[in-house]
Amino acid sequence: MTLNYQPITCHFCFETFEVDLGIEAQFCGHNVEIFDCEICCNPNKVDTEIDEGEIISLVVSDGNE
Ligand SMILES: [Zn+2]
Repeated sequence: MTLNYQPITCHFCFETFEVDLGIEAQFCGHNVEIFDCEICCNPNKVDTEIDEGEIISLVVSDGNE
């Protein structure tokens, strides 16, 4: 099972949309990706900490930095 389509809350407009993290089932570690909001189009930096394919921490911040 992969962690596709994780709902996140936009850092800018606070709307919720789904992003495709595309993380492998056995992945361990840190993943950072930029996703443009589907509603306001601003870049959200999605910072995740993964342990064997499970999200243990997900932080959304300003992707412009
Ligand atoms: Zn937005």
